[in-house]
Amino acid sequence: MIEITRETAVEVRHPADGVSAVPLFFDSPHSGCIYPDDFNSLLPLMRLRRAEDAFVEDLFGDAPNLGSPLIDAKFPRSYLDPNRNEADFSPDDLADPWPGNLEPGKKAMNGTGLVWVRLHGLTEVYENKLTAAELKTRIDTCWRPYHQAIAQTFDRLYETFGCAYHLNCHSMRSTGNVKDPDGPVARPDFVLSDRDGTSCEPGFTGAAKSYLENQGYSVQVNFPMKGVELVKRYSNPAKKRHSMQIEINRRHYMDEEKIEKLPAYASFKDKITGLISELAAYATSRTR
Ligand SMILES: [Zn+2]
Repeated sequence: MIEITRETAVEVRHPADGVSAVPLFFDSPHSGCIYPDDFNSLLPLMRLRRAEDAFVEDLFGDAPNLGSPLIDAKFPRSYLDPNRNEADFSPDDLADPWPGNLEPGKKAMNGTGLVWVRLHGLTEVYENKLTAAELKTRIDTCWRPYHQAIAQTFDRLYETFGCAYHLNCHSMRSTGNVKDPDGPVARPDFVLSDRDGTSCEPGFTGAAKSYLENQGYSVQVNFPMKGVELVKRYSNPAKKRHSMQIEINRRHYMDEEKIEKLPAYASFKDKITGLISELAAYATSRTR
């Protein structure tokens, strides 16, 4: 039997022994690939798997060796998306009444809220509506431990250094679809998002953008993604708490159909390790 529990839902890797800690941490909310038996989806596993940000936790896997904590979800984002507010689900998609308050936003109305009920807003995930009990279980076993790990890590770095920097790590399909803000067009190499300059200081976004452009990559900022719950909820640039989102174009490192690493994976990962070093140096420079 495959199940997700509060204890197995999230992994937090701390900086390696003997490495000096830096005021920066990373999280990968969408790379989880443990599909629990109570998922009960209609869709073939590979259809669901293509919604994962596959291998992102591994691309950033050198973060602890460079002094930064790395948090990743083990559950799939289609089962529960931690990059949503816990109330971001439509009561119309529930089989029975919800005991509390639900406030579905645009993504939830599209079927990609807290639990995905329509894949990319297009394909039904379940035969029957989710029950309130099922939704509650997923929030308790996945959403709460994930958010607790983020909040604790943010606070701990802040208490230690007087400032904290957070990079929320994702990957994106190489081409959007008709439901995406950019439509069915080829995407740039990277998208950086700071919710139009409100979730981090401009220098943090600028440091990532300069590094990536110097490596020859195209970078767009705040389009077609602006950043969602995980960069919004814990950041406050005026109080030196900074969150930024990064989206990596999957064509650089994986076969999007088969969900396999490309031969170029290792050399691409080296570029991401370079980005980690660059941002660690930036964050450290801001403590002075
Ligand atoms: Zn993602």
